[in-house]
Amino acid sequence: MSSFFSRTLGFNRTRKKDIPKGLFTKCPSCGEMLSQADLEKNLFVCRACGYHFPMDRISRIQMLSDGETFEEWDEGLTSKDPLKFTGTDSYEAKLKSNQEKTGFKDAVTIGQAKLEGRDIGLGVMDFKFLAASMGSVVGEKITRLIEKSTERELPVVLVCASGGARMYEGMLSLMQMAKTSGALARHAQKNLPYIPILTHPTTAGVMASFATLGDVILAEPQALIGFAGPRVIKETPLQDLPEGFQRSEFLRDKGLIDRVVPRGEMRDTVSGLLDKMMAARE
Ligand SMILES: [Zn+2]
Repeated sequence: MSSFFSRTLGFNRTRKKDIPKGLFTKCPSCGEMLSQADLEKNLFVCRACGYHFPMDRISRIQMLSDGETFEEWDEGLTSKDPLKFTGTDSYEAKLKSNQEKTGFKDAVTIGQAKLEGRDIGLGVMDFKFLAASMGSVVGEKITRLIEKSTERELPVVLVCASGGARMYEGMLSLMQMAKTSGALARHAQKNLPYIPILTHPTTAGVMASFATLGDVILAEPQALIGFAGPRVIKETPLQDLPEGFQRSEFLRDKGLIDRVVPRGEMRDTVSGLLDKMMAARE
């Protein structure tokens, strides 16, 4: 077992001890009662209506790689508190509670894995950690994922999610947009494919940088994707927005996203695309 899985699965087992066996979850979309075991088996998708539940980063890594081939990079990077947010709501306290809750140091996990036998650079953002907001650690780790993959001539697959910039880090957060975009430009110069997978929700600075710079941009069904939230936009032109505005399917029809892919088909879709794109490169 790779060190990543022995560390993270051990952490998850300890946490899961408190969840009673045979626990049921009600689907928020259709009301169907789903057992935890069934949900896990079905990649956290409702078998009655296809609603996509949030998915933790370990399950996403397992979905997009072979066995336990994932080797994590830079897992120890942590944020400083450059603006000195103090008090009970301090940035330091927020980071600590999120680290304890998730077992990870920040909102993204990066590394190298095999997918159907092919080496890939793989990153997964996790909305459960401070709404996957992009601060200096998230930006730096995504940059390192892209740069190391460029060096090793690997394609990059990145599962995106984000509520926006990490306000606790001010301008340092916004700088990550340019840094990650620059790294992607150098990756593209080597003719290496980059596939972002947009999940619910992918917004603001992440949406306006690496999430929408893919060679092929994939999204999960019904994911909220946009720059500003619907409430902010509505107040600007003072008019109602079209039905389904900012959902994956709407953005696919408008051309921003290439394909909406249900989770059950994601692994085969990504692997098939990489086969074609890497073959075209040779
Ligand atoms: Zn359902």
